[in-house]
Amino acid sequence: MNRYCSLIFMLFFFLLLFMTTFQPSPLETEEGDSPSQSSTFPPDLTPDPNPEPNPFPDPPPPPIAYIILDPGHGGKEEGAKGWTTGVKEKDIVLSIANFTQKWLSEHRVKAFLTRIGDYALDPTLRKDLLLRARFADTSHLQAVLFVSIHIDQFNKTVHGTKVYYSTENPFPKESKALARTVHDHLVQEIGSKPLDVHMNHFLVLRHNTVPAVLVEVGHLSHPEEEKLLITPQYQELAAIGIGKGILAYLEATHHSGR
Ligand SMILES: [Zn+2]
Repeated sequence: MNRYCSLIFMLFFFLLLFMTTFQPSPLETEEGDSPSQSSTFPPDLTPDPNPEPNPFPDPPPPPIAYIILDPGHGGKEEGAKGWTTGVKEKDIVLSIANFTQKWLSEHRVKAFLTRIGDYALDPTLRKDLLLRARFADTSHLQAVLFVSIHIDQFNKTVHGTKVYYSTENPFPKESKALARTVHDHLVQEIGSKPLDVHMNHFLVLRHNTVPAVLVEVGHLSHPEEEKLLITPQYQELAAIGIGKGILAYLEATHHSGR
């Protein structure tokens, strides 16, 4: 009986030894992914100074709207010319359109340009303008508005910013509202003389299929304004002004996605 008891005692002793020796370490537990997570409380919330790059970064949010920017003229149609420097309107408006496209992309608006280089859409002027006017329709881009960018010339004393809309556009009310927001933001951004919004049945406006405006940023016939218009800094400011005007219109017409 005594031997039997000591055998049970020894078995019990070895079982106890086995359990204490082979206890799973914190690394092997199913719940704890790391020793620090399972062992420290409260958890260490200081950010990792060298975080591992996320192999699956979040995709950029989709654009809230698609729009068309139309840098006026192109190719042999040079537009207005700087009276002092001989700079060409077609080159400055393309630069402003590029800056505007960039600024808008940073604000979740995808802008398509009717031209991205120095060319006309068609050798015939009327056909060229019609192609621009129908760009939103034929490109199937679901664009919600159209902004044509130009620079005017008149005489040495006239300067300032003007924006046109057409009541013959299929969206006259929206076009006028867009003209207002673009004019006001542009004037505020570049500090130009406000020459207000005006009605004009330009072909690119009246044959358009979305709300459309034509911006005259300034005057190349005015020596001081010409000096400003040729600098990339002023062109970028003008682009921000146009971009802010477009954003304000999109927000007012519930295209902002908010
Ligand atoms: Zn022009």
